[in-house]
Amino acid sequence: MTDVKKKVHNFSAGPGILPQEVLKQASEACIDFDNLNLSLLEISHRSKNFEAVMQEARALAKELLGLGDGYQAIFLGGGASMQFCMVPMNLLRSEGYAAYVNTGVWAGKAIKEAQMIGNVKVIASSEDKKFNYVPRNYPIHGDADYMHITSNNTIYGTQMKNFPISRIPVVCDMSSDIFSRKIDCKNFDLIYAGAQKNMGPAGCTLVVVKESILGKTGRKISSMLDYKVHIKGESMYNTPPVFPIYVSLLTMRWLKKNGGIEWIDKKNNQKANLLYAEIDRNNLFFGTAEKDCRSMMNVTFLLNNPELEPEFDKMWKEASISGIRGHRDVGGYRASLYNALPLESVQVLVDVMKEFEKKFA
Ligand SMILES: *Cc1c(COP(=O)(O)O)cnc(C)c1O
Repeated sequence: MTDVKKKVHNFSAGPGILPQEVLKQASEACIDFDNLNLSLLEISHRSKNFEAVMQEARALAKELLGLGDGYQAIFLGGGASMQFCMVPMNLLRSEGYAAYVNTGVWAGKAIKEAQMIGNVKVIASSEDKKFNYVPRNYPIHGDADYMHITSNNTIYGTQMKNFPISRIPVVCDMSSDIFSRKIDCKNFDLIYAGAQKNMGPAGCTLVVVKESILGKTGRKISSMLDYKVHIKGESMYNTPPVFPIYVSLLTMRWLKKNGGIEWIDKKNNQKANLLYAEIDRNNLFFGTAEKDCRSMMNVTFLLNNPELEPEFDKMWKEASISGIRGHRDVGGYRASLYNALPLESVQVLVDVMKEFEKKFA
């Protein structure tokens, strides 16, 4: 099937590209899962076959992040946006406050939801420059109930390179760069990531939490919003989103089989370096993010002469490139280089940029 179809170079920001072999295995499981002659979509989540999926997915997520005892991995519905509310529900005391770093739209939404639950201090922001950098050297507030950061800012193409190390719990929205680079995750107390950027299809969110930080607010929490309830239920308090969890497992297996985070870190660096080098070399383009904050996952760039956009658009479309139109807040272009995107696709984009230069420089 894929042999005869024309290859599309998929730079979509989310839902994003998944490995071809994962898509194939996932589609097979829709028809016949585990040789049961039943679809994954029509068996009980309490069947031993699905319980095995859940167990492996929870264990593998922790393994890939390098986290062990003391942490629990659960897969929840509601998207990463649901975590904007669950995090303060579970961690913010009514007399305390939470410290947030504002690095763009997603961080801003997290702040807004936390403010509905308790006190919030925005301890650093890059709003002054339209979020084209990640703030540094801000004071860590040691008396906050927790601090919240966003490791990769999907819309602006900025990425946190160094992470705060703090006595207070550090919470990280890792939706768009989870499993993409070597990070010491032990410095985090709670990590969450919507699946659809770098892990699987939309519909589930991975939450990895250090259990010891839970249960300290004194607040009554609705069962579905309570991490402890989901942990106790082994991520099956209610019917979990079985298909997105299964596909996320397939992607994690693919990653592990190929060499894990070490391997993908190298590969992602190669891809990003190739594209940024061309953006810097080619006088018709410029990058929007400050250089030392550039994201390895979402590369944002503009044309020096926006009037040439229709010409450039025509050229990349002809090269079977898809999904590089920029977010409306930044404009121009955004090439998302998620784990499953091959280096070859980046080379195709770079070749188009060189070709464009020949024609219009
Ligand atoms: C996409 C994204 C979100 C929102 O995810 P949903 O699953 O759509 O709620 C949150 N944070 C970041 C960093 C994102 O990239």
